[in-house]
This record gives sequence, structure tokens and C-alpha cells, in this order.
Amino acid sequence: MISAKKTAKITAAALAILLLMTLCPTKVRAYSPPNDTVRIGLYYGATALQAANLQNVDGYGGFEFGYFDPDTRAFISIGATTGETKISMLRDRNMYYKSDGNTYVTEAVSDIIIGCFHVQLPGSYNDFYGADSVARGYGSGFVKYDNGVFVACVGDYTTRSRANEEAAALGGSVTEGTQYTIAVAATGTGRVLFEFDGGSSRALGVRPLDVNSKTWFKQHQYYGAFQYYRQDGQDLRVLNFISVDDYIKGVLPQEMSPTWPLEALKAQAVTARTYALSKLGSHGGSGFDLCTTEHCQAYIGVSTANDMINRAVNETSGEYVTYNGELCETYYSSSDGGSTENSENVWAQARPYLRGVVDPYEQDVANSVSQYFWTVKYTPSELTTRMKGRGINCGTITSLTVSQYTENGNVFAVTMKDTNGKSWTFKKDEARIALGARSLRFTIGGGTQPGVVPIQDRTVYANSGETVSDGALYAVGADGEIVQLPAGDIYAATGTGEITTVGAPAPTTESSADGKIDGVFVLSGTGNGHNVGMSQWGAYAMAQRGMTYRDIIHFYYTDVEIG
Ligand SMILES: [Zn+2]
Repeated sequence: MISAKKTAKITAAALAILLLMTLCPTKVRAYSPPNDTVRIGLYYGATALQAANLQNVDGYGGFEFGYFDPDTRAFISIGATTGETKISMLRDRNMYYKSDGNTYVTEAVSDIIIGCFHVQLPGSYNDFYGADSVARGYGSGFVKYDNGVFVACVGDYTTRSRANEEAAALGGSVTEGTQYTIAVAATGTGRVLFEFDGGSSRALGVRPLDVNSKTWFKQHQYYGAFQYYRQDGQDLRVLNFISVDDYIKGVLPQEMSPTWPLEALKAQAVTARTYALSKLGSHGGSGFDLCTTEHCQAYIGVSTANDMINRAVNETSGEYVTYNGELCETYYSSSDGGSTENSENVWAQARPYLRGVVDPYEQDVANSVSQYFWTVKYTPSELTTRMKGRGINCGTITSLTVSQYTENGNVFAVTMKDTNGKSWTFKKDEARIALGARSLRFTIGGGTQPGVVPIQDRTVYANSGETVSDGALYAVGADGEIVQLPAGDIYAATGTGEITTVGAPAPTTESSADGKIDGVFVLSGTGNGHNVGMSQWGAYAMAQRGMTYRDIIHFYYTDVEIG
């Protein structure tokens, strides 16, 4: 039992807390996306389809038809359903089932035909059931949604004259459909289940009746709903309307192995989720948000999601990386080779949260990552050919050197000279691409990577060679605690991954003057990717050291909030 005195104390404490909450502004305001659904472009433009199949993964269930609210993107049912578990959406023209490809095509390849001429019976209805009760009276009857109303149709014929005969017999008229009409057939049959014509503004939506179940589409499993629209009145554009988290369950295994530590997967889940939402306008002109390639993020449904992937997404649900309350462009790459880079030193835009950080974690796994240490070699004639192939009108290349490094020791500019004394400079990411380098962290013609702290006799030097401290060495622990390092053998890693003893002079060497070693241009580097934002292998190494996904995100993205 709580005494009155104690109650009064509790009330006073509660009041004080309330007062504090009112006086202090909330520090972290969670980001909430404009809506919970993203639109993914699966087939569009040149890849649009004549026909598209769907199949319930569980082998039972069926499908529901409707359209999507243009603002909320919510699925709006029109009351039309089918118990068929394998359905095909087709252009409403004569289509033939090609059994070896399990698809419908316009070429007359078989006797299984969906004809585009139908008999439309008199009358129209405000709901599906009204039209369906009439259509059911005929063996080949089906309902057509026609710009907001429902009509009953019968049969499918490949010629108008054949349809005219049936129309006369049934007392109806012939309907052919418009450039927007989509027929839905039971896959592998000549049977029409439903037709949809929403004009230019309303596209067909299809989802499994069990909205949480998965659907097969082109050998991959998908969550969510699909949208079909006849692009320019021709083939079908196919989109996947899906919740952000279900989408991330598909992206995650494309970007990171499902066998990786949970905290690394969670860091990837939050960054991929944030990145996706920061790119929502990318394909607005084509009617969707994100494509399925590296341009946005790799996605081929959720077939490869496992329990760890689902956990990583579910346990971080609703979390985004923000800076000053704004969503961050959370770029990430495979590995940074020892240091990430300021975004403006790689691309055009400076982002306050995309600052280069020296990465001490990747070294843990460097020796087990394929091609972490890489070399690219060109003979002068090979390099000349490469550059001519890139549209550069040059003579034989005589020298190739790094003309500027960033403060973090990544390449900022590379200068190339030819036999005519002409020179060209490649900056930022262009230097990586022009030279076929795997990252921006490399030297040319040997030598030591700058920007790495050389330690000589326990005197620590920074990039410029200035002494930053004398005497005892200190390190910062994972928890931020500063500790003095013990005497004895301490090892450090250079930017090229060489492990050197601290205390002995580090082997600092100069690059050759023309970038050549034994007559060949030699690029020696570490890492793989654009060097901006999170390193996935660094995230792996941090998770292996017991750090959390929040530690990982805060390390790679400067001054951000997660919420
Ligand atoms: Zn894209």
C-alpha cells in the first residue's frame, strides 16, 4: 500500500518531470516518412512486358483487384477478387499462351488464345457484385471495370465478325477495349477472369488476398501489391507497391551477406532505408520512386531474406539517419581502404555528415577480404590506348602521378603527361574511374600513402609532418576512454595495409617521379568503392568487436541522429 505522503512525493516528482519536459525542447525528433509505401519500377520503358504472371507462393489464396490512392498510395479495392492462384495480366489484344515460356505473347504460337473482342451485355453497375451476378450466368462471362462502373462481358474472340455473331445471339454489343484495357487471365488457359480500364489516370492494382503473403513474379518472391499500366497504350509497366520495411528486406541481402553479424546488418538496414527514402524523387517522371539497379538500390524481391535479415529490419523499424532533422543521403560502399572521404572531394556536393574519417576497423578483416589490397598496372601503350578509348587525344603517356592528396590521404587529383608535353588532370571520382582503380585510396609508382600517421620513436606525426605529440602514446578505446599504451611492441598499419612496429621508424618511401616501376605504371591501393559514407566491411569489423549498429552509423556519418 502506498502512503499518502509517498503519493504526494510521487505526484511532485511527476509534476517536476512534466515541467522539465515542457521546458526542454525534445532533442531528437523521429523522422516520419511521407507515407509507408514505396513504388519500385520492376519493368518499364524498354523492358515493359506484353504479359505478366503472378502466383501465390503458398499455393492458395487468390488475388484482389483495385487501384492505388495517388496521395497515400494505399490499395483501394474495387471488390473484385479471384480464387485463382496463378493469374496473368495481358494487353487486351489477341494473345497466345506460350507454354515453354509460361507467358502470353502476341504471336500466334498456340491454340490457347485470349481474344480481344468480347460481347458486352446491356446495363452497367456501381459495384462488382451487380455485374458479377449477371456474368456468372454465362460459362465464359466476366466483369469489366470500365472507368468507375462495372459491366458484364461474355467470351473472347479473335475477330470482330465472330464477336458480332455472338452479340446478336446474346442481345449485347461488341467491345474491343482501349489502349488502356488490361485483361486478367487464369495463367495457361484461354479464360478471361476480369478486365480493367481506368483510362490514362487510373492503373490496375493487384494484391494477394492474404495481404501478408508472398507472391511469385518472374522466379522471385515479392511482398506487397503490383501495379500494371499500359505504357503509351502498349506493353505493361509493372511496379511493386511495398512497405518501406518489406522493401528493405529485399535490398539487404543484395547489399550484405545474410550471414554477417546482426549489428552490421542492422546498420545496413538503417542506411539502406534512409538512402531509399532520400532518393524517392529519382524516377518520379516514370511514375515510380526507385529502380531495381545500383542506380537506386539492388532489389529482386525478398526470396533471399532470412531470419537474420528480417530481425535486422524489424528491430530497426522506423529508424532513419537524420542531420538537423533532415533525411541524410546515406551513401555506403564495400570498403574504404583505411579512410573514407569528404563527399565534395569525391563528387560535387558537400554534405556536413559525409566527412572523411580515418577507419581503424577495416584492418581487422583486410587480409580476409578478396582484393582488399589491389594493384592495377598499365604499360605506357596500354594506358595510352585506355585514354584514347575515353576520348582523350593524347600521344604516348610518359608520366602518371598523384598531383594532390586529400587530408585523409585519399587521391584528389591525378596528372598525366604525354610525349608531346601535354598534360591532363583527373580529379575526385573521375580519377578512380579513368584509371580503373578500385577506390580513391592508392599511390602511383610505389611509395607510402600520406595521411597515415607515421610513428617514429614514439613521436606521432600528422600528415604534414608536424609533431602532434611527444613521449607516451595514447589510444582511444571503443567507449571513448583515453588510455596510455603500454611499452613494448605496438603495431600500426599503414594506408597500404603494411603492419609496422610502433617505435621503429616507419618505412616511408617516395613514389617514383613518373609513376612507373620498371617501365610500368603501377597503382597500389586498398579498398573497393567510392569512399563516401559507411564502409560495409568496416561495419562488419566493428560488429565483430562488439559495437552496435548505432556505433557504426555514428562513426561513419558525422553528427547525425538516428530516430
Ligand atoms: Zn534508380
